[in-house]
Formats: sequence, C-alpha cells, structure tokens
Amino acid sequence: MKFFKSLICKARQKSPWLFHMNSGSCNGCDIEIIACLSPRYDVEQAGIHLEASPRHADIICVTGPVTRNAAEAVRTVYGQVCHPKAVVAIGSCPASCNVFAESPFVSGPLNSQIPVDVFVPGCPPRPDAIIEGIAKAAQILSEREARETEVNA
Ligand code: SF4
Repeated sequence: MKFFKSLICKARQKSPWLFHMNSGSCNGCDIEIIACLSPRYDVEQAGIHLEASPRHADIICVTGPVTRNAAEAVRTVYGQVCHPKAVVAIGSCPASCNVFAESPFVSGPLNSQIPVDVFVPGCPPRPDAIIEGIAKAAQILSEREARETEVNA
C-alpha cells in the first residue's frame, strides 16, 4: 500500500493534470497558456496534460480577476478537484485584479475565493514563467501527498 501511495505521489509530480479556468481575463494570459502546448514549448512532452474536467485534474490554473459572475463557479470548480490539489494564479489579474481593480463587475482577487499556492506574475506572463509556476505547483502537490501518506500510514 505504501509503495502504491509513493507511486501516485511520483506520478502527480512527474505528470500533473491541469484544469484551466478563465474567471474573467482579457484572454491575454489564456493565449500564453495555449502557447505552452505549442510545438515550441510542448509541455505535454514533459508530462503536463491539460484536462477538460476538474474531477480528473490535480492542479487548477486560473486566469483573470474573479468577476461577480464567476465567483461561485470558481469555488465550485475548486471543490470538484480531488484532494490533494494545488492552485496556480496565472498573471497579475488573479493576484491583484490589475487593470480591472476598480470595476464594479469584479468581486476581487483569486485568494478572496480559494487558497492559492503559486502566483505567476506578468501581464501576461511568458510561457516559460507559466511552466515554471506549474512545476512549482507539482512539487507542492507531491509534498502534500507525501505528508498525507505519512500521517495515514
Ligand atoms: S494579467 Fe494582463 S493579459 Fe492576463 S488577463 Fe490580466 S490584463 Fe489580461
């Protein structure tokens, strides 16, 4: 059982599955995420897989400030990702709301809705920075999994 758990832990670190959520971005950051999948960066070759369902994902990547319309969806998606999980805030918008800070349609930064593990600054951040942020989140995820395995052993 312990061997099986450590195998899952390694798999999570080496091949994290991501769910991408746009909570109100201008699409600039989303285009950079797509660029990570292009032949130039080819993150799938490094084991990073973009997944369509949050129920199958390990890491949630969020772009944009959290708009009033998206706030509930953000919390719902967070709840749908199995434990342990990690959250990456891509760009300056989820960190501070950036240029949308004064908008009456924005409810606030991402960490006002869900816990955030990694912030990737930039408007938009370059694909290299996004990949580095995802790698950090995968490391956090693996450490979390290892801690829980020790506690439950
Ligand atoms: S950080 Fe910049 S590029 Fe990304 S969603 Fe906000 S305004 Fe758009």
